[in-house]
Amino acid sequence: MTDANMATRPRGKLDEADLLVTQCLIGGAWTAGERARIRVDDPFTLDIVAEVPDLDAADTARAIDAAGAAFPAWAARPARERSQALRRWLDLIIRHKEDLARLIVLENGKALAEARGEVDYAAGFVEFYVEQGSRSLGEIIPAPVEGRRLLVEREPVGVCAAITPWNFPLAMLTRKVAPALAAGCTIVAKPSELTPLTALAYAKLGEEAGLPAGVFNVITGDAAPIGDTLCASATVRKLSFTGSTRIGALLAAACAPTIKRLGLELGGNAPLIVYDDADLEKAVDTAMVAKFRNGGQSCIAANRIYVQSGIRDRFVAALAAKVQALRAGDGFDPDTSIGPLINPAAVAKVTAHRDDALGQGARVVAQGSAPEDHARIVAPTMLADVPTDALLTREETFGPLAAIIGFDTVEQSLSLANDTPFGLATYLCSEDLALIARVSRGLEAGMVGINTGLISTAVAPFGGVKLSGLGREGSAHGLSEYQNLKYICQAGL
Ligand code: ADP
Repeated sequence: MTDANMATRPRGKLDEADLLVTQCLIGGAWTAGERARIRVDDPFTLDIVAEVPDLDAADTARAIDAAGAAFPAWAARPARERSQALRRWLDLIIRHKEDLARLIVLENGKALAEARGEVDYAAGFVEFYVEQGSRSLGEIIPAPVEGRRLLVEREPVGVCAAITPWNFPLAMLTRKVAPALAAGCTIVAKPSELTPLTALAYAKLGEEAGLPAGVFNVITGDAAPIGDTLCASATVRKLSFTGSTRIGALLAAACAPTIKRLGLELGGNAPLIVYDDADLEKAVDTAMVAKFRNGGQSCIAANRIYVQSGIRDRFVAALAAKVQALRAGDGFDPDTSIGPLINPAAVAKVTAHRDDALGQGARVVAQGSAPEDHARIVAPTMLADVPTDALLTREETFGPLAAIIGFDTVEQSLSLANDTPFGLATYLCSEDLALIARVSRGLEAGMVGINTGLISTAVAPFGGVKLSGLGREGSAHGLSEYQNLKYICQAGL
């Protein structure tokens, strides 16, 4: 279906109505729960799209038990068989790409083209781990003494828990679930209460793909009691969380008594540094993607754009022209580049960051178009002359606000970029190989994008240092996160 046709079809209508799922999946059974339901709203129309179960601690315990019961048989299956089940799931994700993208727009608000991109990105994790599952090798270590054989085998860690955010409702789930299942783990997933529908549709497709009952369970409801139960459970051997540093730290503490494996993808405060010798066009493209992808609602969004004095005027003028052309609006409108923000708090934060910078001498150099007085929409905005200590340099803005901050020397750029407790993504634009090598080594971060704002891919390790988290997702490393190494020493040979 083309975008032109999309404009005439009823807003958000699915091809397969039964992919709008409003029940949770526990041990292969769909459950509506017994308590008041959680309302999911459409951030553009502000209408209620659906209501999903408000499951509690007891329901969570049932889901953990179901995952525990399913674990031995799933772990014992040959890796190839697990991959075949994942492959069927992948095929269904691809077949239902349009509906999944529509669900993402309905509950998250992002532009449909970006939602389609998210489904491709999400499917990429499943595809990668379909293949990687069979390539997970052990080791034979040359024995230090005679008559011994030293082996290292990989075993699944056991039952896992996944807690995911609203900004990439499908991709943040598949990048946990696909490696977990490929490794032989079973999982209980709790999507964000703001965007549970994509996760429930994904579960439905998993059922259709023939996943055994209890291998993938998904529960919705109030985050705290569900999170507490998952963290306290001795059956759950690993928690993988993507979200804020504040909640990540709480969960890590709650997991301490049961010594769980942890995967934490937390907040970022990404710098983008543009050096004098950068290719202007590449630098502007990098800034547009790094800043405005997903409306700026991404933990790897460029939060601070540092531009060296020699290129600053040209860069500001060229970026301003692109920002001016952005259009905020309904994600289903093919002309929309940026959808609404997720909730009123998100709007308040972007506004506070803009006002703080303006109060300290920054100026608005470009503004895209936006409907007037929409409660969740902020016009894409670019600020120049932002001071180095503006509020937005210290906190994630998580919205369509591009802040240009000047600098003079390479030394200064590194100290500004690293002056944050976070260390997820960083970006730099330059054509000088020696400078690129120096700066990419000097940046305290898990990831460095050079002349590109588009770094996320299933085949590379995604993750941070400092307050941005622990562990890596994607790539072969992402599979290891769901495996324990078992060392086997056989003597008397
Ligand atoms: P954000 O600020 O991006 O919304 P959060 O860290 O609040 O990030 O949310 C990310 C995920 O963590 C969501 O699934 C949310 O429901 C969940 N969450 C929030 N609070 C808790 C909690 N106390 N225990 C467990 N999960 C939580």
